[in-house]
Amino acid sequence: MTTTKKTTQKKTRRPRSRPPGAGTVGLIHLGCPKNQVDSEEMLAALAQDGWVLVGDPGDADVLVVNTCGFIEAAKQESIAAIRGALRQKRNGRCRGVVVAGCYAQRYAQEIARDYPDVDAVIGVGHNASLPRFVRAALEGERPVVAPKPCARWDGSGARLLTTPPWTAYIRIGEGCDHRCSFCAIPGIRGPWRSRPPELVLDEVRMMVDNGLKEAVLIAQDTTLYGKDWGREGGGWTLAKLVREIGRIEGLRWQRIMYAHPGRITPEIIELFGDVGNLAAYIDLPFQHGDDAVLKKMLRPGSARRYLDLLGRLRERDAGVAVRSTFLVGFPGETDAAFERTCAFLEQAQLDHAGVFVYSREDGTAAYDLGDGPPADVARERAARLMEIQAGISARRLASLAGREIDVLVEQKSRKGVWLGRSERDAPGVDGTVTLMARRARPGEIVRARVTGTSTHDMVARVDDEPADNSAD
Ligand code: SF4
Repeated sequence: MTTTKKTTQKKTRRPRSRPPGAGTVGLIHLGCPKNQVDSEEMLAALAQDGWVLVGDPGDADVLVVNTCGFIEAAKQESIAAIRGALRQKRNGRCRGVVVAGCYAQRYAQEIARDYPDVDAVIGVGHNASLPRFVRAALEGERPVVAPKPCARWDGSGARLLTTPPWTAYIRIGEGCDHRCSFCAIPGIRGPWRSRPPELVLDEVRMMVDNGLKEAVLIAQDTTLYGKDWGREGGGWTLAKLVREIGRIEGLRWQRIMYAHPGRITPEIIELFGDVGNLAAYIDLPFQHGDDAVLKKMLRPGSARRYLDLLGRLRERDAGVAVRSTFLVGFPGETDAAFERTCAFLEQAQLDHAGVFVYSREDGTAAYDLGDGPPADVARERAARLMEIQAGISARRLASLAGREIDVLVEQKSRKGVWLGRSERDAPGVDGTVTLMARRARPGEIVRARVTGTSTHDMVARVDDEPADNSAD
């Protein structure tokens, strides 16, 4: 589960031909990288249908709001975006507002009832057919489409990347079979279905031909890969897929995100150090450090088993960077349970961690457990965990001073100064590297020496560049 929220401003792109009836369309994107891939598929489908994509909502004939809706904060953000789009419709040139994505899937009827000016409500899994619904809406129909998600992989269409060409999120599956008691996602996205390996591999190969350097593997739980195919499915697992992606020439990094710590097999651990392009990085959402709370969350595992897993990973590759997420304020999280989570964080010595406050969601098993600790207590706990983690992150980064690292150059800051990321930093959620180099090119990976560190970021320089030790 992730909570990165952002609004994507699209550059105008004109398709070669424009079928009658198509106009300009703007897409407002909220949510996590999985939703971002949905947005990219929607944009490609709309462009193929002849729509001109615009970045300024004021220039759009149609606004599509691709929403997020797994916790209260995300829902409020989605509602604000819908209201903003409806204001454009009242006051500007916009003729149609389409609400899509997770919030639309979860509350389709409520949106249709509460916002009569919304022209279409389209849940998840309809990216390729979005243009059909947009046209129907403009012709006076009011499609409200949110059936239960398909139980099998039902295809993925072309994408119009919203990331730079050297980095892309690669979706390897959809839905989730876990029943974590706090999580609404299985109800929204349906059961787990793996994306066929030939589709994954073809997509990565095609992107590498177009300059891709970093493939970020995503799904609700990437370790579920192949589970739905059983023995007849060719023995596909996450480990097998990563090894196959490892054979793609020209791909410098692949990165494993959202890997359920209760499902890390010895085969996954063996990938580190074995697969040349696998980044020394893994995202393991532990969620809590108290066994009783983990049990109530219906998360298999325990603090001891998670620490043991970290030990085995680091034994395999001492340099592997670990990201995790934690959820505080869950029902039954006593002071003592929270203190055990603080102690777990100290023992785990993670590189990056995000902390979220529990949100009581209808349709989840935890809903019946009632509220957690008071909101101010939960917020204080989140702040304390973040403070502990900040100290750990800073110390771990400081230990890299003087070492050589690979830096993916992303943009020029000023003459001789560039911004980028290291292998230990996933896009959008982790740190950055300020790179001193006379010459560099966005999209290239260069070798540089770490000259300074802060809590999350590094400064590095290509040898023979003047040193600068400030990471802030
Ligand atoms: S693993 Fe748990 S938290 Fe993650 S999407 Fe599945 S049910 Fe939700």
